[in-house]
Amino acid sequence: MERQELTNIMELMVKFKYKELKDILNICQCEKCTLDLYSYALNRLPSKYVVTEKGEAYSKINATSVQFESDITCALVEGAKVIKEHPRHGADEFVEKSDVVW
Ligand SMILES: [Zn+2]
Repeated sequence: MERQELTNIMELMVKFKYKELKDILNICQCEKCTLDLYSYALNRLPSKYVVTEKGEAYSKINATSVQFESDITCALVEGAKVIKEHPRHGADEFVEKSDVVW
């Protein structure tokens, strides 16, 4: 049997949605700010755990994401506002564009 793994697919959905929205949200795209945004959003969304074979969790996203799409978008928009208002570093460290997905 393949190794099973426990995944919070809400986390995957948040990251996935952020990739779509990141140019619109216009926040600093450094690792620190991106992870801040994920934690802000995930603390306000319900966890959704699934058990899958290792690496298979992405296949569960589509079915679930429709249900939570607007909640996830809301949480990301709110989080982006908070991060813009209270950045954790100076303006000189602002990363306008990053191709790295944190
Ligand atoms: Zn930053």
